[in-house]
Amino acid sequence: MNTEQHINQLREELRQHNYNYYVLDAAVISDYEFDMKLKVLQELEEKHPEFYDSNSPTLRVGGEVTKNFETVVHEERMYSLDNSYSREDLTDWEKRIRKLVDGEIKYTCELKYDGASINLTYEEGALVRAVTRGDGIQGDNVTTNVKTINTVPLKLKGDFPAKFDIRGEIVLPHEGFIKMNEERVAAGEEPYANPRNTASGSLKLQDSSETAKRPLDCLLYSIKGNKLGITTQYESLGKARDWGFKVPSESKLVSSIDEVLEFITYWDVHRHDLPYETDGVVIKVNDLQQQEELGYTAKAPRWAMAYKFKAEQVSTVLQEITYQVGRTGAITPVANLEPVLLAGTTVKRASLHNADQIEKLDIRVGDTVFVEKGGEIIPKIIAVDFQKRAQSLQPTLYITECPECQTTLKRKEGEAQHYCPNYKGCPPQIIGRIQHYISRKAMDIEGLGGETVALLVKEGLIMNYADLYELKKEQVIPLERMAEKSAENLVAGIEKSKKIPFERVLFALGIRYVGETVAKKLAKHYKFIDAIITASEEELVNVDEIGIKIAQSVTEFFASEENKILIDRLKQYGVQLEVSAEKLANQTDTLQGQTFVVSGVFEKVSRNELKKLIEDNGGKISSSISSKTSFIVAGDKMGPSKLEKAKALEIPLISEDEFLDKIK
Ligand code: AMP
Ligand code: ZN
Repeated sequence: MNTEQHINQLREELRQHNYNYYVLDAAVISDYEFDMKLKVLQELEEKHPEFYDSNSPTLRVGGEVTKNFETVVHEERMYSLDNSYSREDLTDWEKRIRKLVDGEIKYTCELKYDGASINLTYEEGALVRAVTRGDGIQGDNVTTNVKTINTVPLKLKGDFPAKFDIRGEIVLPHEGFIKMNEERVAAGEEPYANPRNTASGSLKLQDSSETAKRPLDCLLYSIKGNKLGITTQYESLGKARDWGFKVPSESKLVSSIDEVLEFITYWDVHRHDLPYETDGVVIKVNDLQQQEELGYTAKAPRWAMAYKFKAEQVSTVLQEITYQVGRTGAITPVANLEPVLLAGTTVKRASLHNADQIEKLDIRVGDTVFVEKGGEIIPKIIAVDFQKRAQSLQPTLYITECPECQTTLKRKEGEAQHYCPNYKGCPPQIIGRIQHYISRKAMDIEGLGGETVALLVKEGLIMNYADLYELKKEQVIPLERMAEKSAENLVAGIEKSKKIPFERVLFALGIRYVGETVAKKLAKHYKFIDAIITASEEELVNVDEIGIKIAQSVTEFFASEENKILIDRLKQYGVQLEVSAEKLANQTDTLQGQTFVVSGVFEKVSRNELKKLIEDNGGKISSSISSKTSFIVAGDKMGPSKLEKAKALEIPLISEDEFLDKIK
């Protein structure tokens, strides 16, 4: 077998495993084996750029950056759907269509997935374009981001038509959504409100490797094209499934509106067991010939109807409002409710968000309130049942002092949240910061858990994360549920954290808005903690992707004397507060201020190596040529359109050797 065949075979194999894992949910090899195969393929592709394939499974991880999404006009308009809410609405619809078509009418019932709609174009079995719905006439080209979604096949299987479009919904399943939010909260960021908006936001991220990190899923429901040899909607779902698409199996072919209603009744309850959000059912005339006869109104097809589930709502009594203090001092009011069953789970608490929300609802302890579970995971209080309000109920006065340390609360201009400014002495803030410091994605301290941290603080053994490094085994042993061995592990775990690289230490410090990604960017750019400490707001904003909010938060953090002392102590203990010498040895700022576009195939180094060299030497990489481009590193087979653009803008072309000379 020659190299090309080997590459193709690996791609084919990986595609099949990917399909087994993500679409069928039935893996046949371990994750480890999969990763090994992927690695082999990556290495082969690096060595042999001549066999580049824009739909290779190795490109799932993303990395391309899009500044402005291109607008694309849909070949066929993406219509909206008419809505129905009752049996009458549906029987009325049936009467209307019966007047327009002859013969028996069958219906496909599908779930209405709640996400962002997408149109995928395939040519010769390869994904060529993914476009958002936009206004229905034209949308945004988000292909690079969509390619990172594992259930979107990049190459099709079986007997597919040469060219067609397929439509579906990109959703963010519950499990992944919850996990993402936990990570955001860990970084001191606001959690996302609901999976739908987060899914559509994910499609418009500029950096596709960020999209790749989001556990998105793509569910398909409609094929468009000419001479496809398909005669019914139900058949088309099966075909799409055969070609490798993820088409949920809940869909059902029925022969009457009574059966449609049965489907609706069943799923109104059981939709809560599905891994993703649905907001209704879509009923479609099954026969495509009949669909054509029925046609469209100005807004929607006549042959389809959405039935919207009512967001489940119950009423219960508000017993108490309590206030939670987060790691960053932010106060969240929580409604404590008389327990009530809602959408299959018992609800006892609901978030009230902030003082404005309480005022808007005019909610009072003792009120009967309506609670709803809509697109949000956490139940929401919709309104107060004013008819049931007793005369005696007192208006809610928002707390003015921290419930944990009695400090007067503050609210910054333009922010909804109150916060406790007692950074140094407020127990949940102290504990929360240390818990964040030791967490898995930060310092990952083995042998130390969140509860132990709380205990250590309560016992007065630690007040901040620097104190951890002074802890002695003997101090820890007397604590509840501690034994000699566990105390030893704890101290050893803390010792080991001194090896954790700078970027993760920076994240662990718990600076508001400095999540993992931002920490990485700052570490890479500044290299030493002192450079970050002395950086001004203006300088910080000039770093790629650092906005004013982050910059302010960073300067505020390091303006504090206490924080500076903490950092000094960490330094003394030997915690990594600069990029390691080894990593640094390979870095220069020779190319500072220069932007490169890399194009073509190279001999001495691979494209990825070339890009790494540019970045390690302080240069920037852009994927497209503009007046801001300093040089184009041109290899073999550079595209003619790029060449033309370079000429027009008079951007100098340099060869691989010339580039390597620059950084020698
Ligand atoms: P609406 O936005 O409420 O007018 O509803 C129309 C949208 O429902 C379409 O644009 C699709 O994105 C979405 N949708 C979700 N599931 C389905 C489905 N099974 N069939 C058709 N459309 C669906
Ligand atoms: Zn406080």
